[in-house]
Amino acid sequence: MISRIDLRDAALPEGAALRDLLPRAEFDVEAALETVRPICEAVRHHGAAAVIEYGEKFDGVRVPALRVPAEALARALAELDPAVRAALEESVRRARKVHRDQRRTTHTTQVVPGGTVTEKWIPVDRVGLYVPGGRAVYPSSVVMNVVPAQEAGVEGLAVASPPQKEFGGLPHPTILAACALLGVDEVYAAGGAQAVAMFAYGTESAADEPGCAPVDLVTGPGNIYVAAAKRLLKGRIGIDAEAGPTEIAVLADATADAVHVAADLISQAEHDPMAAAVLVTDSAELAEAVEAELKAQVAVSRHVEERIAPALAGKQSAIVLVTDLEDGLKVVDAYGAEHLEIQTADAAALADRVRNAGAIFVGPWAPVSLGDYCAGSNHVLPTGGCACHSSGLSVQSFLRGVHIVDYTRDALADVAHHVVTLAEAEDLPAHGAAIKARFGWKVPESK
Ligand code: NAD
Repeated sequence: MISRIDLRDAALPEGAALRDLLPRAEFDVEAALETVRPICEAVRHHGAAAVIEYGEKFDGVRVPALRVPAEALARALAELDPAVRAALEESVRRARKVHRDQRRTTHTTQVVPGGTVTEKWIPVDRVGLYVPGGRAVYPSSVVMNVVPAQEAGVEGLAVASPPQKEFGGLPHPTILAACALLGVDEVYAAGGAQAVAMFAYGTESAADEPGCAPVDLVTGPGNIYVAAAKRLLKGRIGIDAEAGPTEIAVLADATADAVHVAADLISQAEHDPMAAAVLVTDSAELAEAVEAELKAQVAVSRHVEERIAPALAGKQSAIVLVTDLEDGLKVVDAYGAEHLEIQTADAAALADRVRNAGAIFVGPWAPVSLGDYCAGSNHVLPTGGCACHSSGLSVQSFLRGVHIVDYTRDALADVAHHVVTLAEAEDLPAHGAAIKARFGWKVPESK
């Protein structure tokens, strides 16, 4: 069911050599670029017609219009199961609390008397938020995209999610209800690469439907085609980190509860046949117990054939045996999991030493499922090892820091000779001239 990698015999290699020993999904975004390139080009040239066409091809339903009518949003919220509404409201409340604390304030640094640099944080004007809806539907991803964008102060906010055949080509009603709950009224029934391209290039308005105006930034998780389209169109649009098929790594010792560890591994395998579930442990007994638990729990799970079994059996998932927790730490750092659980006797101390992870879940009472929905943390996190250079979605993802430089005549005069010297050292005399021109074409004496 799940393979084993035994790293106990030899000394652990470092860096890339260690990474090569660890399981990883064959998630080749580069290869998928060739699939999404013609889709993005078609949307660029043919707009909404191409988006609708690809929706019919990949999602099996031809939508009458891309833009979801206001009545459909209102109806979805009115018809939402009250328990689901209450849970979404709690999820929003907690996410808002955390993301509100991430807001950046304008800060002015007095560099010298008369010379200041102010860093001002300005939200992007318009964002396109992708909410997946292929294999599973993710109203929680509406919350995780929309809340940080709203807390950052973004004014133009559009959501896209794949059209669903069983709902007449609208995105899933729970997704529509979550949008309505959060006050988002611009929602499109578009999925995959065509949705990302729609956001990047925009679509023309037609007589019966307003077009989608191009956005500045596209965020949100998705499958390989979504990730490839984001990579392809990056530059024209800003993107968040690539958030592909989900990953869980659990670093556990003999004190961990095998029932919990197995349940947590299965909970992420449930997302996608390409999802990764990795246990890193120094306890052979725990490894045995987790393996037995996986068998028992998978036998009574849903989504086994189509997602859980292939995810656990895939080369991206494994139980990794290490000599001790020091080596375990090296392994999880080399892996850079999207979600890292630490289930050890000294979980908090160990968590503090982790360098590479999208989010860290400490101890037995903070499972990844909590973070997926209601911890207050964000669940749009970097996958595929991107955690070594990228963060999850946050208020910061939607802000730009702008430096405002303000110098008086005296403050410029005082540093002019250094500026001119550096300009000459770079053989850019016009740079020096721009300073001299302000002082009668002379370099002012420094004080
Ligand atoms: P999705 O919405 O990302 O993708 C569905 C779309 O893919 C379809 O609308 C279709 O247009 C396109 N598509 C399907 N087959 C295609 C093909 N052959 N060629 C071109 N386009 C094609 O939904 P999904 O497939 O369920 O994937 C969601 C992913 O998001 C999962 O892997 C899940 O693990 C991941 N996820 C990640 C995070 C995170 O933060 N990392 C959070 C939630 C979900």
